[in-house]
Amino acid sequence: MGGVTNALTRVADHKSRVAGLVGVMPVVDLPVSDCLDLVLARDVVAPIPLPPFDNSAMDGYAVRAADVASPPVVLPVERDLPAGAAGDAPLAPGTAHRIMTGAPLPPGADAVVQVEWTDGGTSSVRVDRAVAVEQNVRRAADDVAVGATVLVAGTALGPAQLGLAAALGFGSLPVRRRPRVLVLSTGSELVGPGGALERGQIFESNGVMLAAAVREAGGEAELLRFVPDDVERFRAALEPRLGSVDLLLTSGGVSAGAYEVVKDAFTGRGVEFTKVAMQPGGPQGAGRYRGVAVATLPGNPVSAQVSFEVFVRPALRAAMGFAEVERPSATARLSAPVTSPAGRTQFRRGLFDPASGRVVTPVGGPGSHLLSALAVSNCLIEVPEDVTSLAQDDEVVVRLLHGR
Ligand code: AMP
Ligand code: MG
Repeated sequence: MGGVTNALTRVADHKSRVAGLVGVMPVVDLPVSDCLDLVLARDVVAPIPLPPFDNSAMDGYAVRAADVASPPVVLPVERDLPAGAAGDAPLAPGTAHRIMTGAPLPPGADAVVQVEWTDGGTSSVRVDRAVAVEQNVRRAADDVAVGATVLVAGTALGPAQLGLAAALGFGSLPVRRRPRVLVLSTGSELVGPGGALERGQIFESNGVMLAAAVREAGGEAELLRFVPDDVERFRAALEPRLGSVDLLLTSGGVSAGAYEVVKDAFTGRGVEFTKVAMQPGGPQGAGRYRGVAVATLPGNPVSAQVSFEVFVRPALRAAMGFAEVERPSATARLSAPVTSPAGRTQFRRGLFDPASGRVVTPVGGPGSHLLSALAVSNCLIEVPEDVTSLAQDDEVVVRLLHGR
């Protein structure tokens, strides 16, 4: 029987347990345009040089620099070279080719006179200023040599990295795929939006919140919002989906009451339930149900979301191959005192203002139902296990809730 253990589990231990369960996602080839914010799984080596050929950096006239050394000079314009032209006809001495930015430099030319330094003529051109050899010329491989390693495995792919891959002609890239998470909200009291609440009912919110958190972390979320507190119906809801998910994430049904559907359905079936030394978010479960990684979060909305931040988000980031899996953190001074239970890491919601001397203001109280306070926070204030009170101006560590 996987059961409840009496001693509190350390935050760090539960965290590594969840990360270990999720593991690392397989490498897949995805279209470059789908790779934003994914992690490159293998080095990218340039199959072509960049630029691929010598070309003009300006709209103007390809010339021999020596021919325009004593301006003004009038040269016949022999050809017109828009971008995309093959541009392989040689430039005869004493002539010019009209050339656009990005068009190949004709053989024999060694400089480009920008159009602003000429009269802009089409059959002949008057050049008013001399140019140096190589001026306004972009040589092949200036940027990237063939065979150069341009992106290393482990790189987080942003717009510039995707642009570079596209410039090198890649249609797809090897990346770790997004983890697929099935988010299940349990509770017979939960209803959807649109109607009036009967007494005892509440609008379901954890599912929407956790699915959004999964997506923000880079994962894919499928959401089952209204799973009643009934073991058979709970199992029936998740069974058909188990084959296609990397993590099953539940909220509710794991604490000490009766009708704890998640606990009842999973106990003795590969999932262990513990109390973690933290507030909020004490009751947690993790394990494997029929081969699928499971993390069970408590039902109170703030507990669920804080648990996600502490345990699940780093696991999803690690699964995607990110080296840095934690949110950015900072030290800050408290604008007001806080108290915290002994032996538990407390995560208080806060508003961090880096501008005004790195001050953090606790928002709302410690209650795990205070969702509106979470909604106006931008950080979690971490009060260590052994600390029971902090005074105004004391220094604390804050984890920023936005950013990577
Ligand atoms: P539980 O852990 O199931 O006992 O739930 C603890 C508290 O969180 C109760 O007040 C529930 O009504 C509430 N709760 C549980 N799941 C959700 C949910 N998906 N959306 C909103 N509140 C919830
Ligand atoms: Mg419940």
